[in-house]
This record gives sequence, structure tokens and C-alpha cells, in this order.
Amino acid sequence: MDCKEAESHVNDYIDGTMTVSQLETFLKHVRNCKSCYDELETYYTIRVAMSYLEEGQAHSYNIKEMLSEDMKGKDRYIFRVKQQKIGFGSLTTVAFLSLFVMLFMRLNPEQVREILELTYHWIGF
Ligand SMILES: [Zn+2]
Repeated sequence: MDCKEAESHVNDYIDGTMTVSQLETFLKHVRNCKSCYDELETYYTIRVAMSYLEEGQAHSYNIKEMLSEDMKGKDRYIFRVKQQKIGFGSLTTVAFLSLFVMLFMRLNPEQVREILELTYHWIGF
């Protein structure tokens, strides 16, 4: 992700409307690019200040700290989504293998050959 693209995603970040992969590349970029981080911090500050004004809260807040916490929260979110994907992938693999073992044990060679052909066709070999 370049600076131009990162800047175009600042509001999406604050609104929480990015996909996980967009979010991941965006966070990677702003952590390594001071100018984009400053841009994010500016917009984030304005957004937080506006929402507090609307709510009538007049306390002072450490917005730098809030943004840092927000980014860490997004990291945890990305991590959780990735864990779920990995979990789902291995579950699917295990289910698939179990099904194969069951089928191989009960079928004659001709039927096994047909299933293999169908499977290869199905996975695009
Ligand atoms: Zn940048």
C-alpha cells in the first residue's frame, strides 16, 4: 500500500469499514510511515473531539493513547479472524480426509477409481 492509497483509507479505518486484508496492510503502512500516521492521528483526533462535543463531554483525553489502543485492538481483531480461518481450513481438511478413509474402506477398486477421478476433476487437476 502506498501513501496515496493509505490516505484514502483513513476514514474507512476510523469508521471500521475496511476488510481484514485492507486493515492489515493499512496498519503496516501507517506504522512505518510518519506522514500517513500523522494524517490518521489528525483525522482520528477530529473525529473523537467531534463525538465528545456531540455527547457534551468536556474532559480532556489522551487521544494519542486512544489511537494506539485502537490500533492494538484492530491487531487483535486481525489475529482472531486469521486464527478462525486457519481453524476452519484444517477442520475442512480433516473432515475431507476422514470421508476418504471411510469411503476407501467400503468400496471396491472400480468405485475408488471413479471417486478419485471425480475428485481430481473437482479440485481442478
Ligand atoms: Zn505513507
